[in-house]
Amino acid sequence: MKDLNRSVSLICSICGNNQFSALGYDGEKFAKFSEAPYYKCYDCGRLISKKQLMGENQEVINANIEEIKNEAVDEMKKELQKLLGKIGKIQ
Ligand SMILES: [Zn+2]
Repeated sequence: MKDLNRSVSLICSICGNNQFSALGYDGEKFAKFSEAPYYKCYDCGRLISKKQLMGENQEVINANIEEIKNEAVDEMKKELQKLLGKIGKIQ
């Protein structure tokens, strides 16, 4: 079976960029962020908590899960047909 692993890119809802730098928690500087870790958008510099980012990208994430599911089913079907083909030849 082929590798179905993939990474889901999260997208900044402000500028559409998908490059973020992950930041550790800095209580002094980022006291208003209660949910560490959080990310900084490379493009617009927006700071967003991981939870918030995931929330904004829920649709993208769900779409990816659906796609992976469909691909997995297709792969299983192909494997099964190959297997059934082999059994057919034996009989
Ligand atoms: Zn951005």
